[in-house]
Amino acid sequence: MTPSHETSACSTPFDLLIRGGTVIDPSVNKSTRADVGVVDGRIAAVAPDLAGQATEVVHADGAYVVPGLVDFHVHVYWGATVWGLEADKIGAAGGSTAFLDTGSAGAITLAGLRRYVIEPASTRIRALVNICTAGLVTTLGELRDPRYLDIDGTVRAIDANRDIAPGVKIRYSENIVGAGAQARAALDAAVEAAEQAGVWLMVHIGYTPEAIPDVLDRLRPGDVVTHSYTPLEGGLVDLDARGVLPAVMEARAAGIEFDIGHGKSSFGWETAQTALDSGFPPDYVSSDLHRGCVHGPAFSLPNVMTKFWFLGMPLEEIVARCTLAPARKLGLDAGTLRVGAEADIAVVAVDEGPVTLVDCTGVQRTWDRELRAAHTFRAGVRLDPDVLGPSEELPVQLSSQPMTRDADA
Ligand SMILES: [Zn+2]
Repeated sequence: MTPSHETSACSTPFDLLIRGGTVIDPSVNKSTRADVGVVDGRIAAVAPDLAGQATEVVHADGAYVVPGLVDFHVHVYWGATVWGLEADKIGAAGGSTAFLDTGSAGAITLAGLRRYVIEPASTRIRALVNICTAGLVTTLGELRDPRYLDIDGTVRAIDANRDIAPGVKIRYSENIVGAGAQARAALDAAVEAAEQAGVWLMVHIGYTPEAIPDVLDRLRPGDVVTHSYTPLEGGLVDLDARGVLPAVMEARAAGIEFDIGHGKSSFGWETAQTALDSGFPPDYVSSDLHRGCVHGPAFSLPNVMTKFWFLGMPLEEIVARCTLAPARKLGLDAGTLRVGAEADIAVVAVDEGPVTLVDCTGVQRTWDRELRAAHTFRAGVRLDPDVLGPSEELPVQLSSQPMTRDADA
């Protein structure tokens, strides 16, 4: 083990010293027992047995110390959409220090997301702009009325918010966009808006209104498909053929990217196992946390990570897919524990089981361990779940019924 830093920092008192954990830093491809020292909100040292005084010491023996998680698919427009959670609260509870909100806001409502959510938050938030001009206010299929499609408004909203809005989002399900020509026109509009704005597009699938090869054909390198392991019809995996559709592998080779977005309906054990067994890991491991899945079946990003660990993916590869990979995609200086970086850190404990892990169809698996965010620091400052408290109950509940092809969510 080579200390990545050996200097004067050792004589400088640390503001925060995280001792004795196993450091996984995908930015240097390293997993090693080390201490992490923080000064002035930045990583000051990563090395075994750091000496020196510290204002706060965190004992991380038996835990993993990883970059603050970058959750590539969440909904954090609290109070303005039926789905919205509060970013700092789910960050504190789940180890995330940065988020991509995937289309909670459309052209009309992005300014509010920016002013009332993104700017006051401690966590860093980026937001895809929904091609539905109203975003995701209700559960009533936001594009069933095609008049809500807004190419010009979406382009203008992105143009005015380039620092926070890296792309466009469409939820491409029959219960949301309808079928046939109406559906195809919606996807065409989303691609057109992304093209005009010079950004990438995220397409949500499941009960997809046209064949997956036809959808993938219209996407461009850098575009992202989310809900890649959905057990719903219209997904990427053919369970009968025990593999991923050939068009999906071709799309990946052509530069299309694939996100998980576990959520309420989009992770099935058999689908996931089949995809992994056929050499189709996701590019991003994300939670799709929203009000309808935060109390299960998704629970938290560490819970989703545990499921991939259970399925045999090495933990280092999982961590890379929810830190460095999304940070790079979003242009965030995050997903790293290198000296000098902002001290976004998650201390992830391993709780011993037996634990029950559940997918979106209700199928349970029992395992001997589960990941849990024990401490979360954003720029060296603790995100404290006790201080932030629980969210206020909203008067409208989300249905707990399983999703169907034609139902509202
Ligand atoms: Zn989502």
